[in-house]
Amino acid sequence: MADLNRPRQSTIKRLYAECSNRCAFPKCTEPVIRGGALLGKVCHIKGAKPTAKRYDASQTDEDRHGFDNLIILCSNHYDIIDADEQTYTVERLSRMKREHEERATACSDEEAQRATNIILAGGLAVQNVVTANQSGGIAANVINVNLSNVLLDQRPWIEVIEVIAGPLTFDDEGGRLAVAIKVKSVGKTPACDVKFAGGLYLIGKDHMDVLEEQEGLCGESKNWKASGDLTLFKDRETILEASLPIPQSDMDQFNIEVPGKPRFIAPVLIGCINYASAIDNARYQTGFIYAVAEGPEPGKIHNVTVASKGSAAISFDENAPNAIAPERGDIPRGRVSLTPWLGGGFFAK
Ligand SMILES: [Zn+2]
Repeated sequence: MADLNRPRQSTIKRLYAECSNRCAFPKCTEPVIRGGALLGKVCHIKGAKPTAKRYDASQTDEDRHGFDNLIILCSNHYDIIDADEQTYTVERLSRMKREHEERATACSDEEAQRATNIILAGGLAVQNVVTANQSGGIAANVINVNLSNVLLDQRPWIEVIEVIAGPLTFDDEGGRLAVAIKVKSVGKTPACDVKFAGGLYLIGKDHMDVLEEQEGLCGESKNWKASGDLTLFKDRETILEASLPIPQSDMDQFNIEVPGKPRFIAPVLIGCINYASAIDNARYQTGFIYAVAEGPEPGKIHNVTVASKGSAAISFDENAPNAIAPERGDIPRGRVSLTPWLGGGFFAK
């Protein structure tokens, strides 16, 4: 078994299921997840790395990334705890976690799974929170908390409200899907330099890790240089259009063959809207995932399950009327359906 270097998905799920969607700090009411956005952090009580606070070299990786060593905190309380190792000892944090979990009300398995996917897609941390320079002590923490609050409150925020698709065409070079992504700016400050990154990925017989693909795509898009092309002010909507290819080589490699049937493909649209803040130049992302099928009954073809090893798996029903077989030819707009990825996949960070 490979060395464990991060908490297991099942551990995060249990942690979320016992936290009432709240930060574990006493009396804090900050949610861990709001809508599709991750606001909290999964934190290690005994540090995860030798350089981290409260690191215990004698701890096994299994214990280090295990349920008892993890606590969910909002980013303000994470900063406060991280800045004061004397006050926030291992014992105190463990007690804080236990008392919080005793008070928590259970959530449904479905809700815990959705939250787990959001947490995993968020890379276990809230990004882009600017931290003030700290000299230590309570006063510095208070300044830090307020600054983070202000920036989080004022950050730009884009929602993906609709993705209209079609047609899906096939020729000698492979397939191509036209997409029109309707986005809306809902944050208090403008979203600057709005860009779309995305692509069509084919799921093979042995499935693929869709959330990992999304993480990679959104991670890459963070490094883009600003061009200043598109700025969206509050409550403004726009449509971002793209024509996304499915290379023939992908169709040859990642298809689903059933004896006596045409060759099927199961495309997934993975996208990321990337935008910058005018107040601190930080870049933010809104990510989304859709399964592509032939209408009018989306959903039948894709039975999404999340495998225990942490990857999103997909099972395929070749008898479903909406399974896509390129040999049958183009699918006109209006018959292409996009179904939000059932295993999660929406996030903003
Ligand atoms: Zn908190």
